[in-house]
Amino acid sequence: MPCARGPTNPSASTRSRLWGDSSGYCGRPDCLAKLIVQDPVGEDAHFAEAAHIVAASGSGPRANLDMSDEARRDWANLLLLCANCHALVDKSPEAYPIDMLLEWKRSRIEKTERALGVSAVASREEAWSAIHALRVQNRMIHADLGPDNDYAMNPEAEQAAHWRRAMLETLIPNHRSMLRIIDVNRGLLTESEVSIVEQYRSHVSDLEARHLHGRRGLTSRRYPSGMDRVFE
Ligand SMILES: [Zn+2]
Repeated sequence: MPCARGPTNPSASTRSRLWGDSSGYCGRPDCLAKLIVQDPVGEDAHFAEAAHIVAASGSGPRANLDMSDEARRDWANLLLLCANCHALVDKSPEAYPIDMLLEWKRSRIEKTERALGVSAVASREEAWSAIHALRVQNRMIHADLGPDNDYAMNPEAEQAAHWRRAMLETLIPNHRSMLRIIDVNRGLLTESEVSIVEQYRSHVSDLEARHLHGRRGLTSRRYPSGMDRVFE
């Protein structure tokens, strides 16, 4: 990450944070160039540059004479771009004003958080819809393939193998996503829902112990039926 500018050069921890924000892609939404690629001999090459939103000096693009060096090198004033886009936004600062660059930065972080299911929402209604699709998918798989079906007496049945695969590939990851969404929105739970969620967490741990870590003979804690109405 070039762009060495002495006192306004970002610290190592700021640079790591910028990499995290970028998810590895240029911060200009119309570009999305991969910031690390493999060259023909298999070496990693990266094109990432930490662009200053407000210029690194008092005379650069989008400059603000009143800004301190400390604020100029702060995470909040930096955006990870590919080398081309960095040149573009600095050569035409009128076409790429401060507000636009801040919006690129904000929306990238928000999109990543949404994709990972880790963003906090404003209302119980939003929290409900965030987990509902996952809950419905799990319920349908359970109805189609779950151990309540006829094959239960025959562990060799093809359906049993489908069930085990669905458990590893979909059900457990969905449970983990739901817990993540619930945990970042914990403030929206009622008091009785908090204890239902903890029972649910135990249920998920037991599923993982059995299906991921192969621990047999455990009495699994059941899925608490109240989970279907959390955030309702
Ligand atoms: Zn770019």
